[in-house]
Amino acid sequence: MKASQFFISTLKEAPADAEVVSHQLMTRAGMIKKLGAGIYSYMPMGLRVIQKVEKIVREEMNRAGAVELTMPVIQPAELWQETGRFDKMGPELLRIQDRHERHFVVQPTSEEVVTDIARQELRSYKQLPKNFYQIQTKFRDERRPRFGLMRGREFIMKDAYSFDRDEAGAKASYQVMAAAYRRIFDRFGLRYRAVAADSGAIGGDLSEEFQVIAATGEDAIVYCPNSDYAANMEKAEALAPAGPRPAAANAMTKTPTPGKSTCADVAELLGVPLATTVKSLVLATDELNEAGEVTGSQVWLLLLRGDHDMNEVKVGKVPGLDKGFRFATVPEIEAHFGCKPGYLGPIGLKQPLTIVADREVAVMADWICGANEVDFHHTGVNWGRDLPEPALVADIRNVVEGDPSPDGQGPLSIERGIEVGHVFYLGTKYSLAMNATFLAEDGKPKHFEMGCYGIGVTRLPAAAVEQNHDERGIIWPDAIAPFTVVVCPVGADRSEAVKAAADDLYQGLLALGVDVILDDRGERPGAMFADWELIGVPHRVTIGDRGLKEGVLEYQHRRDAAASKVPVGDALAFVR
Ligand code: ATP
Ligand code: MG
Ligand code: MG
Ligand code: MG
Repeated sequence: MKASQFFISTLKEAPADAEVVSHQLMTRAGMIKKLGAGIYSYMPMGLRVIQKVEKIVREEMNRAGAVELTMPVIQPAELWQETGRFDKMGPELLRIQDRHERHFVVQPTSEEVVTDIARQELRSYKQLPKNFYQIQTKFRDERRPRFGLMRGREFIMKDAYSFDRDEAGAKASYQVMAAAYRRIFDRFGLRYRAVAADSGAIGGDLSEEFQVIAATGEDAIVYCPNSDYAANMEKAEALAPAGPRPAAANAMTKTPTPGKSTCADVAELLGVPLATTVKSLVLATDELNEAGEVTGSQVWLLLLRGDHDMNEVKVGKVPGLDKGFRFATVPEIEAHFGCKPGYLGPIGLKQPLTIVADREVAVMADWICGANEVDFHHTGVNWGRDLPEPALVADIRNVVEGDPSPDGQGPLSIERGIEVGHVFYLGTKYSLAMNATFLAEDGKPKHFEMGCYGIGVTRLPAAAVEQNHDERGIIWPDAIAPFTVVVCPVGADRSEAVKAAADDLYQGLLALGVDVILDDRGERPGAMFADWELIGVPHRVTIGDRGLKEGVLEYQHRRDAAASKVPVGDALAFVR
């Protein structure tokens, strides 16, 4: 590829809404372009990265015996009604209607459609096992799309679905996928961990997430440095002994001070145990009037463990605040859940919450949320328009650094991760709901045993950037770099020798099958180098008159502090 024919568009400044480095750098490098909240065009430079991710995924899925197909993005609601998900799924599922007012969904995932295919096509046990996959556009109307490709609304996922004749078969298929995922993530050249995840009611331990290690990750992962033990926080907490943590870790003060009060303070004051797993957020107050409107200034943030349908809680509303923002009284919460809320916080407000006479909420920005430890509060939490994801409060937890590992191999460590893949044993959940059967060996119909397996194809490049960058820009691992090598001629407009040497090297690398780009734009060296450092091409060869006179080129890896001289004759072998 020649740069003059390609499309390169770099920016000096990151957009104001880009909070994390991957979003900033991918935008500045001209890889993605925002169209709307959580909706991006994959620009030519970014698309090359995505296509490299897809190629690796495809190769390893095929190698593992999975078969590629493509299912529709727009799917009839009837199928989703069969499993009940059309009604149950909540606002993340985008529902649309056609001109005949028939209902459809935009696929957030495709269990229904693939199960429908299986029940029609896989008639006999002789056709099993089978694993179908696609690499396709997904849409999830995320409450808070953010971080560029990391949490988009439209994104690309590889989703695979296995069909087996029995549980043992399904578990074997799951293991084949888990092994394929390890090969895939090894090939990307990123630091990652496979961690046990909660498989809910379905079954055993057969759910793992693949987490790329990064400080900005939305998930907390718990691992033992001395053993293989690794789990996401949810799963680790499920195993941890119940009850509040020893008080020693928490400094006790009798009265919660605005801006500085721990969960332990609050729990002691209210006589309630601390929760271990935070799943839902609700605001509660004891000062609601009969119309359900908040009248006072005392508002609690409740963090509830487990899955609860908040719509079932009798709640009041605050005029001017919508967006899943609800108030309930503490007794209502208790009556509904049959127990005291596991944890009450934050209470520690930076400024007192003011609900003025006309019941407009005056101060709803920059809250401080409670935590299990002193100085572990989340600051700057904005409510209402900017309701935080539960992930933001994931640090309120019952498992902390230094706790003993469940396998007895030493103390636990905690780090942050980005979920880039997920493998899940489903059992007969979908085949039962959709009556998807095959004829078993005894001639009787039997429900398929299933598994599902996802990879965030567009989230992965963002995770790679979070892990690999410096102040100048991105540093791509070779496997997913938009180009592996850039050839930078300096002064080619003045020197035929430079131009010829650059062309020679470029042609030579092309012939060797190296993914090379020749920067023939005629940019000045400073601007040219800044572009490629921002874009993050891992290998750069610079060709200039001065070097040529000595018979050398300059080679610099994106991580190197300086260039090294390479004899012109050795360049091909060296760069390769
Ligand atoms: P998360 O916990 O981040 O919301 P998830 O558990 O809902 O993800 P899955 O249903 O397991 O996601 O989907 C499989 C994969 O798709 C995830 O592991 C992730 O890599 C990717 N993915 C999910 N949601 C998004 C999104 N909004 N933007 C980009 N990639 C996503
Ligand atoms: Mg999700
Ligand atoms: Mg998840
Ligand atoms: Mg998941």
